[in-house]
Amino acid sequence: MCDVQTLFRRHGLRATAHRALIYDTLAGADHPTAEELHALVSARCECLSRSTVYATLEAFHNAGLCRRIPTPAGPDRFDADLHEHLHILTPDGEVRDVPETLGLELLNALPRGVLSEIERRTGLRIARVSIRLHGEPARSENGHPNGVDRRHLAPADAQPAAR
Ligand SMILES: [Zn+2]
Repeated sequence: MCDVQTLFRRHGLRATAHRALIYDTLAGADHPTAEELHALVSARCECLSRSTVYATLEAFHNAGLCRRIPTPAGPDRFDADLHEHLHILTPDGEVRDVPETLGLELLNALPRGVLSEIERRTGLRIARVSIRLHGEPARSENGHPNGVDRRHLAPADAQPAAR
């Protein structure tokens, strides 16, 4: 692990106090949107405008200091964790990390023969594989979201059927 000064230098960025504050906030947050990051930064210091936070985030991304994660619903999210790891996206646009060992297990389970055949047919070398998982609320064995089977609820507790 290196300090922010060294990290920024390695990525060709000057480590100003404001950039260090924004980076530190990003690194401590859970895949925030630019808007969420601005709110988190503002809670620590009201010295930075929204446009400064957005522009700095863009500079971090361009310098390879963070990952940008497009989501199917809502704005992109950002991740300062540059370790190879997979994400699972929720329908409402949240992003969660897949446990590292399971992500690696999944990537390592990809059939090498298929990858080689893709390279042969496309004439390209596969430099890296990126997998993004799309989650939805888990269903229980009875087929109901989150394990709630409304057939067993008293009528007063039952939700009205969606029309
Ligand atoms: Zn992540």
